[in-house]
Amino acid sequence: MSEPLYLAVTTKLNFSPCNGCRKCSLRCSSEVPFAPTEWAAVSRHIETLSGDELEALRRVEHQDKTVDLGDGVTVAMCRYFDMETESCMIYSVRPLMCRLMGHVEWMPCPIDKVERVLPTAEALHLMEAYAGEMRQPASEWILESQSA
Ligand code: SF4
Ligand code: SF4
Repeated sequence: MSEPLYLAVTTKLNFSPCNGCRKCSLRCSSEVPFAPTEWAAVSRHIETLSGDELEALRRVEHQDKTVDLGDGVTVAMCRYFDMETESCMIYSVRPLMCRLMGHVEWMPCPIDKVERVLPTAEALHLMEAYAGEMRQPASEWILESQSA
């Protein structure tokens, strides 16, 4: 299996402005997709967790992920989003879409903290390759693994 496409941006983007920042956490939707290579990376990562880390992950997965935005509008957050600390439990292996949040022109940093975005031509080229992969939310991958 080839490498996850998110590796293409790990050395090109500066993620340091995002360290510890929670200002765009509402983008962590349950619908964020994972390509097969990305889901494989998540699975491998989970296999390396210690007992305590795995317990923490399971606790987060079982949290109520509903966020009430008011006026009857709610959103469901990603299963890996810790509702208490507002952080990602799989940050080191988060998929491409999570890495691009705030780092491409069409998903800008909402607080203008990210100074250098991926050049648009390069980002579009990457998205073309990504669009060629089957992608689905974590919930679908888990359903598949349970019915296998
Ligand atoms: S993109 Fe902007 S708001 Fe989002 S985590 Fe990074 S610095 Fe914070
Ligand atoms: S994988 Fe992490 S960064 Fe991506 S949507 Fe889920 S919680 Fe957010």
